[in-house]
Amino acid sequence: AQRKKIAIVGSGNWGSTIAIHIADKIADLKDEYEQKILMWCKEETLDDGSKLTEVINEQHENIKYLPHERIPDNVIALPDLCESVKDADILIFVIPHQFVKKTCEELKNKVKPSAFALTLIKGFYIDEETNNILLVSQVIKNTLNIPCLSMMGANIAREVAEKVFCEATVGSRDDKHSETVRQLIDGPFFRIRVYPDVEIIEILGGLKNVIAMCAGFADGLNAGFNTRAAVLRLGFREMVNFCRLVEKESTAEIYLESCGIADLIASSLGGRNYNGAKKLAETNKSLKEIEKEDLNGQSLQGPGTAKEVYRFLQGRNLLDQFPMFRDAYLICEQKIKPHCLLENLTNHPEFQ
Ligand code: NAD
Ligand code: 13P
Ligand code: CA
Repeated sequence: AQRKKIAIVGSGNWGSTIAIHIADKIADLKDEYEQKILMWCKEETLDDGSKLTEVINEQHENIKYLPHERIPDNVIALPDLCESVKDADILIFVIPHQFVKKTCEELKNKVKPSAFALTLIKGFYIDEETNNILLVSQVIKNTLNIPCLSMMGANIAREVAEKVFCEATVGSRDDKHSETVRQLIDGPFFRIRVYPDVEIIEILGGLKNVIAMCAGFADGLNAGFNTRAAVLRLGFREMVNFCRLVEKESTAEIYLESCGIADLIASSLGGRNYNGAKKLAETNKSLKEIEKEDLNGQSLQGPGTAKEVYRFLQGRNLLDQFPMFRDAYLICEQKIKPHCLLENLTNHPEFQ
């Protein structure tokens, strides 16, 4: 049989990390996988005038988005999006969620019809016309006409790159594709569990970024440990209630998986959204400014998702049922101050 080809669509902090991880994994699977992994890298010129793709391919390091980690020689960064996916059997999408629609449009009719996709992207849209949730996996599936799985979990990229133990949840309804993902990802320091629902996993991955920001607001204001725990607990309650609105058939088990409670915990301890939100509460700077100052091109996914969640709830007259999601958005927009979110906890619908 032909060896399967892998393309990574994205080369940021998580994209570069997963490229390294998969390259290591397939080194033991030479009969099954083409060893050359193509990684789409949106070209950019670095401060010294060099091109990022050239630096990655020559120095074998993504010095901008994942400095100090060696990228194996068989991972090739390509600036041409269509070229990087054209022969791929497995497409791994790992770009900030706000660029998904445009990227998929460019790929329309350019991928192998027998290919499948896996999204690692945390964030979603609300469809402007229907005001229904529109997931990254759905955009990929509908635009490219291929199946799409999801994988989310407590996976802060730097720690994964350093090979510190973690786990993740894979959403898949297709055993053959699940098995492929297992071959590419599962190993001693990165365990996966498969759950037969793609969408709920993505929704949790998007929502936790918003609640991680709430944890950052609380920490930035030096709220005590009890308040911080309440923020996580009530925020998790809102996540679960939101999921129940949109994904009626899912079981409660999913919230106990890595993509649920564990990702919320990891992200609320040290994710970028958490750190950015903490700084907002400490300094009154806008998240846009903070992203610019601290992230060197990396992207906060929480603010965009908070906006979409707000629109969804507003359209259904449900904002009062989700005061943390509501306030998180209003804080991101600098319409209210972070202390309002904490003050509103006392009247949370949980206590009515
Ligand atoms: P990142 O935050 O490092 O963002 C930088 C990347 O965005 C660069 O590769 C850049 O080329 C790309 N980019 C910028 N403008 C673009 C455009 N117009 N079109 C396409 N790409 C563009 O990215 P990341 O950390 O790899 O995150 C990607 C996704 O993975 C996000 O949804 C994130 O939530 C998720 N994720 C990240 C982590 C993590 O720890 N970094 C962990 C799990 C999941
Ligand atoms: P941040 O984007 O907030 O860093 O979260 C990373 C993540 O999703 C860890 O699982
Ligand atoms: Ca579902």
